[in-house]
Amino acid sequence: MAMSAARSLATVHTVLDLRGQVAAWKAEGLSVALVPTMGALHEGHLSLIRKAKTLADKVIVSVFVNPTQFGPTEDFAAYPRTLEEDRFKCGMAGAHLLYAPSATEMYPAGFATSIVVSGVSSGLCGEKRPGHFEGVATVVCKLLLQALPDVAVFGEKDYQQVMVIRRMVADLNIPVTVIGAPIIREVDGLAMSSRNAYLSDVQRGQANRLYKTLHQAAQDILGGMSVQEALDHAMDALVTAGFGKLDYLELRDAETLEPMEVFDRPARLFAAVFMGKTRLIDNFPIEPR
Ligand code: AMP
Repeated sequence: MAMSAARSLATVHTVLDLRGQVAAWKAEGLSVALVPTMGALHEGHLSLIRKAKTLADKVIVSVFVNPTQFGPTEDFAAYPRTLEEDRFKCGMAGAHLLYAPSATEMYPAGFATSIVVSGVSSGLCGEKRPGHFEGVATVVCKLLLQALPDVAVFGEKDYQQVMVIRRMVADLNIPVTVIGAPIIREVDGLAMSSRNAYLSDVQRGQANRLYKTLHQAAQDILGGMSVQEALDHAMDALVTAGFGKLDYLELRDAETLEPMEVFDRPARLFAAVFMGKTRLIDNFPIEPR
């Protein structure tokens, strides 16, 4: 039964077909959730689909490797594309529709609009990946307006992205409820990511130290160590663990994402660091006791 659901998962490639299906569902009084992804689906994505199923009658998964959110030297060309496998996994997870638009469907000739969300986009990935959140905000805005879902589900693995989307949805009065879902990790703690496939066996063995280091820094801060000292220790630990270039390692306010030098309110540790050529990101919450 589940196998045949997976094999027969309906797939659309155009805005027209997507809208047709959503309109039919809405005419039946059904609610709709959207889970935007770039494909190469893993358990982290599937957890979003399962969450979406608890929030709406019908779940759409979009798979689109969005060129505008990659910088010129980033991995757009190398990014894994596994649409048939993704379709199967979406079906097994209980999604009802796969939306896989082409680049020209999303960005037809003459496309000239870009959405800039300031404030929460500054710093962290916003600073280290110039133009990234413009690309993300623009494509997510388009996906939301194309599908007009009641709910959209995003992973806290990309915590800053969730905050950018929340801000955009509020500012532009987009009629959707944005839900953030927890980070799904491998057994050794490494946050699941489509980019983990780039890691060699040796790198994969070292990569879980990112999570362990954030976890330790959180314990240190909760134990009374100053934020700066805890971050200094964490940076040393990352170097010792075999990580290369550090894009950032910071404590920020969990809501506003403002940098925090003193831990006095709900916060999150954020890190982006390279393991070889692979850029890994992770974040970890710290709540005052
Ligand atoms: P991506 O395909 O990487 O653009 O991710 C699509 C969605 O899946 C985003 O909302 C991500 O935050 C979310 N996601 C990716 N990895 C994880 C993870 N390990 N746990 C939870 N959500 C995730």
